[in-house]
Amino acid sequence: MSESAFSKLNLAEPLARAVAEMGYESMTPIQAQAIPVVLAGRDVMGAAQTGTGKTAAFSLPLLQRMLKHENASTSPARHPVRALVLLPTRELADQVAQQVKLYSKYTNLRSAVVFGGMDMKPQTAELKRGVEVLVATPGRLLDHIEAKNAVLNQVEYVVLDEADRMLDIGFLPDLQRILSYLPKQRTTLLFSATFSPEIKRLANSYLQEPVVIEVSKPNTTASTVEQHFFSVPEDDKRRALRQIVRQRGITQAFVFVNSKLGCARLARALERDGLKAVAMHGDKSQDERLKALDAFKRGEVDLLVATDVAARGLDIKDVPAVFNFDVPFNPEDYIHRIGRTGRAGASGLAVTLVSPGDNRLVADVEKLLKRKLEIEPLEYDEDRPRGRINDGRRTWRQQGDEDDRRERYEERRREPRQAAASADPFFDQPYQAPQREEAAAWEASTAAKPAGNRISANIKPKRKVAALFKAEQ
Ligand code: AMP
Repeated sequence: MSESAFSKLNLAEPLARAVAEMGYESMTPIQAQAIPVVLAGRDVMGAAQTGTGKTAAFSLPLLQRMLKHENASTSPARHPVRALVLLPTRELADQVAQQVKLYSKYTNLRSAVVFGGMDMKPQTAELKRGVEVLVATPGRLLDHIEAKNAVLNQVEYVVLDEADRMLDIGFLPDLQRILSYLPKQRTTLLFSATFSPEIKRLANSYLQEPVVIEVSKPNTTASTVEQHFFSVPEDDKRRALRQIVRQRGITQAFVFVNSKLGCARLARALERDGLKAVAMHGDKSQDERLKALDAFKRGEVDLLVATDVAARGLDIKDVPAVFNFDVPFNPEDYIHRIGRTGRAGASGLAVTLVSPGDNRLVADVEKLLKRKLEIEPLEYDEDRPRGRINDGRRTWRQQGDEDDRRERYEERRREPRQAAASADPFFDQPYQAPQREEAAAWEASTAAKPAGNRISANIKPKRKVAALFKAEQ
């Protein structure tokens, strides 16, 4: 039996069964380190990002410890909140809650998720029925506490997940208030991508002699990600993107842009090019974001065009490729972006399109990665796609490019360039993608997509589900 086999943990049968059903064989490093510590009742301060398996790392031992309270009674009083998991964004909360449901499916432990932007009533009804595990974003949880829908005086376990992001968003006062409602005698787990001085202060205030666990070094990129930097004039970027997608037979990808306007514009332009693209940015409503995410997960959309802030809340596993349509303003975002591909040993492709004005931004990425980046020229296909016009310059353009330029011009007149800062208090973090069996022709992507699951009650399925989350079946 391998050192990291789940069977080593002696998890209770209902949990072991759920884990086996999900296809997990060995523990990820954060699981191997954190699960025994949490089972032993210690507080944990963990440096781990999404995608490392940290949800199971805290959920499984908490569920195991809560099994002693498991009961089939219908009385709400028999199902008080015992574990509280706080996350910065609705998407993260929803995704963690889905995972908790899967891990606990063979137990009588109940779980629920509450986050803003949705009607309080169904959440209230669920809380009133009684839940042992409550996953929540801080603001909405406070609403429920004030409305006396959530009673937290029997909480034994608290997880502050993505704690750095919660502080970035300005949730510290909310967290302090929530924590003040909880019993002092409890286990507290804090996970954060980095241990900034603020995070350390938070840990000092609320954790007791935590075991510190670090599994991923910050500022490194996975060796399984093939990284390319192509020199591409700004106006040719879309063409370059289309070509690489076609040549590499890429079935799904994230396309990162630096601004909300650029995001919307690019998604529209790609749609005009006949690709299935959807924009994900901070001006989209909650409903639109969930729909876009759902469509991507189900394989109905091939390119998810996103800003950094919008992408951070998305737990999408193993995308075959990530495009940096714009070189990120913040070099750390380069790491986050390409961390969405090449997960768990799978190979991934990260392509950055570098235009002549991007030298300084590329230099920032080089500084962070501590290596010189090779900027390659991009050889364009000989054949020019149909519908192109020769505009008298050396390059051939499609009509769509003209529309695109006109749109950009109009936007520039209306609004100055977007700031790089992540001002949207919403999303946050890295990801993974679908390995479709064959890189079916890009154009033929209307064909049936592979099946998978992960449809939340909050994300209504419309058609058959795609393969993105196979690992979790
Ligand atoms: P997380 O970092 O918790 O968001 O998990 C990332 C993904 O890895 C999720 O899809 C999990 O279902 C999956 N996962 C977690 N633990 C394991 C494991 N031990 N083996 C395989 N997949 C896992």
